[in-house]
Amino acid sequence: MTVNILFAAKAERWDSYRTPLTAALRAAGIDFDLRTDFAPADVDYIVYAPNSTVQDFTPYTRLRAVLNLWAGVEDVVDNDTLHVPLARMVDHGLTQGMIEWVTGHVLRHHLEMDKHLFGQDGVWRTHVPPLAQDRPVTILGMGELGRACAATLAGLGFPVTGWGRTARTVPDVTTCHGANGLDAALSQAQILVLLLPDTPATANILSADTLAMLPRGAHILNPGRGTLIDDTDLLAALDSGHIARATLDVFRTEPLPANHPYWAHPKVTVTPHIASATRETSASRVIAENIRRGEAGEPFLNLVDRSLGY
Ligand code: NAP
Repeated sequence: MTVNILFAAKAERWDSYRTPLTAALRAAGIDFDLRTDFAPADVDYIVYAPNSTVQDFTPYTRLRAVLNLWAGVEDVVDNDTLHVPLARMVDHGLTQGMIEWVTGHVLRHHLEMDKHLFGQDGVWRTHVPPLAQDRPVTILGMGELGRACAATLAGLGFPVTGWGRTARTVPDVTTCHGANGLDAALSQAQILVLLLPDTPATANILSADTLAMLPRGAHILNPGRGTLIDDTDLLAALDSGHIARATLDVFRTEPLPANHPYWAHPKVTVTPHIASATRETSASRVIAENIRRGEAGEPFLNLVDRSLGY
C-alpha cells in the first residue's frame, strides 16, 4: 500500500529536500506519495520542522511517526497533541559540520588567533601558545555530537574530558557523569564546549556557580542551545576576567537582537546558529530508513525520550 508522507517545513526546505528525499525513498524500496499537502487523516508519516504550520497533530488520525529534520526537539517534545513516536535527526552531515565548527573554534581559541587577526596594530606579540597536549578541553554533552567532537579533539592531542547524564565510554576521552561529575569536568577545563540539549534539567547549567568551577581564564564555546547559559552571569564572568573569551552560536532569542550586549562585547564572538545544519542528502537517507523500518515493523532510529525531553 502507498505510504503517504507529509513534508511539513518551510517552503524553501521543500525546494531543497524534494529531490534528495524522493531519491532516498525510492532507494529504500518504499511505495510512497510525498507531498506538502494531504488530508490529515490520510497521512502516515510527517517529515517535520518544528517551525512549520503543523502544530496540532490531533487530525492526523493514522499517523505512525513524526520524523524531525532537526537534532534539537525542544519545540515539539512537549506538544500534548503528539501521541506517536518522535524521531530526531542524527545525520552524518550534521555531525561532520559540528566537528568542523567545534574543532575550528577550539583551535582558534587555543592558538589565540584573534590576537593576531584583530590586533594588526604594530605590536609584536611573541607569546607562543602551548601545545594541544597542555590545553585541557571539556565537553558537556556526550551524545552524537559531543562524542564525535571529543574523538576528533583527542585525536589532535587535546586532553578531553566529557560529561553527560549517564556513563559513556569514548576512546582516549576521560568521561564523567551526573551532578557529582560536573565539578571534576569543569575544574580542569581551559576550553569548555557546550553540546547539551535544551531541557528543563539543562537550563542555565552554566551559571555563576558553575562558571566559578572553571579555572580563571577559561574559554567557552556554545554550539548547543542558548538556554544552557545564564547570560547575565556569563557577561559578569567575562567582565571580571574569570572567563577569557566566549564564542556563542545559539541564543535564547534568535536572531540575537541587535542591541544585545553580546554583539558589542570585546570578548564575545557571535556566530548566527550556523555551527551545523542538517544536510539534505544524508538526512534524506535517515528519514527514508526510518520509514522503511516503520513499514517493516522494525524499531525506529533516533527516538526521542519524551520524559527526558531529548
Ligand atoms: P544527543 O545525542 O541527544 O546527546 C545529548 C547529550 O546530552 C547526551 O550525552 C546526554 O546524556 C546529555 N544530557 C542530556 N541531558 C543532560 C543532563 N540533564 N545532564 C547531563 N547530561 C545531559 O544530542 P546531539 O545530537 O549530540 O545534539 C546535542 C545538541 O546540539 C542538540 O540538542 C542541539 O540543541 C544542539 N545542536 C546545535 C546545532 C547548531 O547548529 N548550533 C546543530 C545541531 C545540534 P546521556 O549520554 O546520558 O543521554
